[in-house]
Amino acid sequence: MTSQNQILFEQSQHLIPGGVNSPVRAFRSVGGTPIFFKKGLGSKLWDVDGKEYIDYINSWGPMIVGHAHPEVIAAVQAVAANSLSFGAPTGLELEMAETINKLVPSMEQIRLVSSGTEATMSAIRVARGFTGRSKLVKFEGCYHGHADSLLVKAGSGLLTFGEPDSAGVPAEVAANTLTLPYNNVEQLEALFKQSGDEIACVIIEPVVGNMNLVKPTEAFLKALRDLCTKHGSVLIFDEVMTGFRVHLGGAQALYGIKPDMTTLGKVIGGGLPVGAFGGRKDIMSGLAPLGKVYQAGTLSGNPVAVTAGLKTLELIQAPDFHKNLTVQTQKLVDGLMAAAKKIGVTFSAQSVGGMFGLYFSEACPTCFDEVMTSDKAAFNVFFHSMLDSGIYLGPSAFEAGFVSAAHTDGDIATTIAAAEKAFQVILSTK
Ligand SMILES: *Cc1c(COP(=O)(O)O)cnc(C)c1O
Repeated sequence: MTSQNQILFEQSQHLIPGGVNSPVRAFRSVGGTPIFFKKGLGSKLWDVDGKEYIDYINSWGPMIVGHAHPEVIAAVQAVAANSLSFGAPTGLELEMAETINKLVPSMEQIRLVSSGTEATMSAIRVARGFTGRSKLVKFEGCYHGHADSLLVKAGSGLLTFGEPDSAGVPAEVAANTLTLPYNNVEQLEALFKQSGDEIACVIIEPVVGNMNLVKPTEAFLKALRDLCTKHGSVLIFDEVMTGFRVHLGGAQALYGIKPDMTTLGKVIGGGLPVGAFGGRKDIMSGLAPLGKVYQAGTLSGNPVAVTAGLKTLELIQAPDFHKNLTVQTQKLVDGLMAAAKKIGVTFSAQSVGGMFGLYFSEACPTCFDEVMTSDKAAFNVFFHSMLDSGIYLGPSAFEAGFVSAAHTDGDIATTIAAAEKAFQVILSTK
């Protein structure tokens, strides 16, 4: 019998390239038919065929309080009735700036945009304007959205396709982007020694979530901070994924490192399109209309989107919110590790706050090259077995997973039971 998922995917491919509006959704890495959803509530999703799933993607992070949270939905409905957009300032944007500044104090001034891509692209322009330099440093396997200068050895969907660079990015643009291996202090020092005074900025995922989950070493983050300070390069923490997820104050609060600029997205919109970039006032005041760095947006600071974000940020400030999220995510990771050990499958896992990584390798990877050694075939078998059991994971071995506040002990137990079955399938296919 042909499912609604198959029919929709078949038809979508005629009009939408690959049938999807963002590449990883197409399931190319794991094979099979992508799931088309029609409803979500709390930790659960329902597809167009009525099948129920426990969701560990959470829209790639934003749904940290769970799907269709009644308070978020009510706030959005109320504000939507006052018009969907003005293209003019509102008090809501001030409220958002105040909330961000309170939770992430290194963001002394903030500007709102509509996606993470816009946030990183704009932050880099501001950093270049401020320093008068052109060179940008990023790390192998980190993804910072799809702006031209950042699609150089990027992670996420690009990794899935085994294609380090994108066609359509001029070589001249890519030439200003220098890439280094993550967690490698020696190479970082060597690069700064050689061309530190040409480096406008360094952009980094302070905990990587786009080549699967990779944790930074404290020595690496500290060396980065010191070298940027010494050479007058702007340190940009891309916290689009980690912001409000690994800690209420982001990875910078968790690791105690103060960047010059920060980019936010995902959680900050609570499921609607919001991004933000901000940082030191002397840098941010280079933006138009104050300074000479141009940046703008018709829907920037959109009242409905900002309201969804504000309500989400209010909910995550509840006492012990991140403590509970961290514990719950750790329970999942511990349970999966125990299940793999019991069945006898090579597997490791770890988490930071509400983000987790699953690896079909002996140890948790610390850089891109190590990520690439994991058993991708085993992941694909695992993914499909879990999907059959109603557990929705990222459709690629190179994506982090996400737990929300709505995930119950029951959800975790169901997931671990499904994983035991999936690990058995892996063994039987070896
Ligand atoms: C998702 C993500 C982006 C891009 O955000 P979009 O809203 O998809 O444009 C940038 N940086 C990081 C670290 C991300 O995880």
